[in-house]
Amino acid sequence: MVKAMPSQVYDVIVIGTGAGGGMAIKTLCEAGLQVCALNAGRRLNPEKDFRNHRMPWEMKFRGFGDPARPSDNNPGFVDTEWGPNIWEREVTFTTAPGSTWMWPRCFAVGGKTNFWGRSSARFGDIDFRAASLDGYDVDWPLTYEEVAPYYSRVERMIGVSSSVQNRPSNPDGEYLPPFNFRCLDHILQKGAEKIGVPYLHDRIAQLTENHEGFPRCHFCGACTFGCDTGSFFSSSWRFVPKAEATKNLHLRTEAMAKNILVDENGMAKGVAYIDRQTKQEVEVYGRAVVVAASCVESARIMLNSKSRHWPNGIANSSGQLGRNLCDHLYGESARGYLPQLLGQPSFPDSVGDNTIVWMPRWQNLKNPREEKFIRGYSVYPGGGCAEYPWYATQAEGFGSAYKRDVKRRYPTPVSFTVQAPSLRSDSNFVDLDPEAKDHYGIPKVRIHFQWDENVLKMWEHSKEVCAEIIRKAGGVCEGSANEPLIPGWSLHETGTCRMGDDPKHAVTNGFGQTHDVQNLYVCDASVFLSCTDKTTTISIMAFTLRTCEHLIENFRREEHKRA
Ligand SMILES: Cc1cc2nc3c(=O)[nH]c(=O)nc-3n(C[C@H](O)[C@H](O)[C@H](O)COP(=O)(O)OP(=O)(O)OC[C@H]3O[C@@H](n4cnc5c(N)ncnc54)[C@H](O)[C@@H]3O)c2cc1C
Ligand code: SF4
Repeated sequence: MVKAMPSQVYDVIVIGTGAGGGMAIKTLCEAGLQVCALNAGRRLNPEKDFRNHRMPWEMKFRGFGDPARPSDNNPGFVDTEWGPNIWEREVTFTTAPGSTWMWPRCFAVGGKTNFWGRSSARFGDIDFRAASLDGYDVDWPLTYEEVAPYYSRVERMIGVSSSVQNRPSNPDGEYLPPFNFRCLDHILQKGAEKIGVPYLHDRIAQLTENHEGFPRCHFCGACTFGCDTGSFFSSSWRFVPKAEATKNLHLRTEAMAKNILVDENGMAKGVAYIDRQTKQEVEVYGRAVVVAASCVESARIMLNSKSRHWPNGIANSSGQLGRNLCDHLYGESARGYLPQLLGQPSFPDSVGDNTIVWMPRWQNLKNPREEKFIRGYSVYPGGGCAEYPWYATQAEGFGSAYKRDVKRRYPTPVSFTVQAPSLRSDSNFVDLDPEAKDHYGIPKVRIHFQWDENVLKMWEHSKEVCAEIIRKAGGVCEGSANEPLIPGWSLHETGTCRMGDDPKHAVTNGFGQTHDVQNLYVCDASVFLSCTDKTTTISIMAFTLRTCEHLIENFRREEHKRA
């Protein structure tokens, strides 16, 4: 039964409160618009839901989680014993024959930014014009110069620590001082230099100085369990409170958007959602709608928004909604250890849970086709004193001699994780599963995805290079993963509401405004034209800021009427 809300009409309905949705509600509310935000899950309480320095031995199941609960290995479930019931446990997708995918969805307010890895490099000219350089696919409908000021504003807003690097593939931004290299980084950097590979500070949205009322990082190493002091950027610490302070935000939690409602002209007039507590369907009305539920879920909501005007999903006259799915291939390119560090004490600079350094794209820079693959990849080196040393299960012995041996080797392990972009292809896309429905009777999304030949060549290349770096650094390389990680693992999926100037071939224009439905905007990585060698989140925020200022301007010009 549909329960319509009383006659209130908001200026804007925003679906999602993560990187995209959070930036949208902050920007729109601060401009004076009345905003209703729908969020599929609950609000987190940092004091209870984050780790707060609790050690494994303080936990009932020593940090391994309740064995009686469904396995956390099941794709889509990534709850931990420190933060239970935060990630969605229901699987709302299927995979087409031959495809594999995992899709962890954090439905809490703030979305995945509560627990993300914080790596925050800008896309560059080389990414926006990639097609002109190597002839594959099409260029983005905007230039780096157009987006650069938005990157700068986001960096100043959230605080990004890094160094100026002057590299062609990675524009420099406005940074706080970088994190110090760990001992292992100084050693590996020398190895990388010997074969001409850059080994530099990552751009990381984690504070090396107090910033905007938040304290600098205190190196507890618990980032992926949530930061109790807000020392890295998350939407729930930084954006949602700012939006609420304007008193222009009405946040509805446990509100799972189902479809976008349209008026008699096919324009957006609101959103139908399921109240997950009452299980009732509710309608909420607005003059404009922003979809920011993350790449695949945004496509799912829009594909499920069928009407007389939009029989194949809203704003889908191009047939491109759900198409062009891309992802980052992740995998362990090499692992080993540095004997130079045997027996060294462990220091806070060995915190294992940080993206302190990276190896930004160095391939195909002078000539777009100098390698056996086109475009390029980047790599994250890791290591140091992670909480539970994996090799402890393999070490021999017992008692105090065993413990001494484990401790002696503590600072030595190193590994490399590749981040390689898949290419757009006609065979990678999402659609609605004609058979399967979720718990609420909403059609599940079906994923069609396989790694392409180009990205697999990058994977092989990275294995050779990273093994060589360990060896040149005087370390011992012990191998690499046999296979890349399952698609979807990186959580950097892009492309399902692709932007472009031509309405026949793109879902949105360069402002993330859908071509077909002028009062419908998309604010997540689904609008990205390609998956680059960089992570997506800072770009989601920069693009969303730009989109929302365009939306505000449309209200000023009365193209959208205030409620
Ligand atoms: C462990 C980890 C490490 C990561 N590392 C990095 C990194 O180093 N760098 C980087 O750039 N990115 C990283 N990411 C990915 C990053 O978190 C995402 O790119 C980013 O959060 C995406 O923002 P978003 O707004 O599109 O989606 P989310 O942040 O997922 O937000 C989506 C929001 O939509 C809501 N929602 C979803 N469906 C519905 C619905 N039907 N109705 C109502 N609301 C809905 C959710 O509740 C949520 O609030 C990492 C993620 C994780 C988990
Ligand atoms: S290491 Fe720093 S950013 Fe990470 S949780 Fe601890 S204080 Fe927060």
